[in-house]
Amino acid sequence: MGTWLEGKPVADRIRENVRQEAEHYQQAHGAVPGLVGVLVGENPASQSYLRMKEKACRSLGFFGQILYLPGDTTREGLKIRIEALNDDDKVDGILVQLPLPKGFDTHEVISWIDPEKDVDGIHPYSLGLLLQNLPGPRACTPLGVLELIKSTGERIEGKDVVVIGRSLIVGKPLAAMITNENGTVTICHSKTKDLAGVAARADILVAAMGKPGFVGPEFVKAGAVVIDVGSNAVTDPAVVRALFGDDPKRGKEIQDKGYTWVGDVQPRVIDKAKWLTPSPGGVGPLTIAMLMKNTLEAFKRRRRF
Ligand code: NAP
Repeated sequence: MGTWLEGKPVADRIRENVRQEAEHYQQAHGAVPGLVGVLVGENPASQSYLRMKEKACRSLGFFGQILYLPGDTTREGLKIRIEALNDDDKVDGILVQLPLPKGFDTHEVISWIDPEKDVDGIHPYSLGLLLQNLPGPRACTPLGVLELIKSTGERIEGKDVVVIGRSLIVGKPLAAMITNENGTVTICHSKTKDLAGVAARADILVAAMGKPGFVGPEFVKAGAVVIDVGSNAVTDPAVVRALFGDDPKRGKEIQDKGYTWVGDVQPRVIDKAKWLTPSPGGVGPLTIAMLMKNTLEAFKRRRRF
């Protein structure tokens, strides 16, 4: 039986360091880091993610704001708003909440952000710095995954690491970060043959697929570190029962809200893994903590502190 790797204590430690550093700059220079989240349309999950980020900003003494734009915003309209944020000196970080409504070219929109303010670490310039292993903003969720792995005391160097998922915000930057840490990475995706067989060779397995409960014990080597990035809103009580049995808390959540959050990894993997992150409560708190850290770093770089 392994140990649950909770994200909150690790995230709290990072946030406290960020808070203290930000307080120091406020006292010394009268300036605070500023982050603006841009939301186009009314996706309820995106609204809730951005509100959490805004709340995190406030709790650390940052300037935090959400720019709500209607779903029928045009390409030109969005470009003008992003350029205005690029020119706004009190804004150190710009975060365009994904996914954007249909019709927008995500890569194009991200490329409008000033790379100095790219606190999500997914601007092509930031990704180039990552591939070259040079300092620069790094994608928040993969950074959080690395922090969680390191918090176990397990080394990444020389380890076989399998990442399931190759998205721009999780799988691909994570694979590059692990390579930079001297791990040996295999990236898997929907065309990978014998996915369970490949995954079961990993010392460290990261699931970032967006498929509720897809990863069962047959994907896991005994004693592996398993990081569940998946965060999926499940509405079907039968799916939840298959994963968690008769869990009254989750049953009530579906009844009250219409859904419950579920990871990509089945909870019974804890019987085989050495460490397993819960979902929710594992990677999520780290993503927000790393966003705050990236915003502080952008603030320091821009103001030459
Ligand atoms: P995404 O863009 O949809 O990418 C999913 C990846 O998984 C793709 O590369 C896809 O392969 C692969 N995949 C899907 N089904 C597969 C299968 N059956 N076998 C093998 N590979 C498969 O998703 P994402 O944005 O990376 O997010 C992934 C999950 O992480 C979601 O649940 C998301 O909500 C969660 N997430 C959580 C946080 C957090 O802070 N906790 C942050 C970001 C994302 P192809 O490329 O071949 O299609």
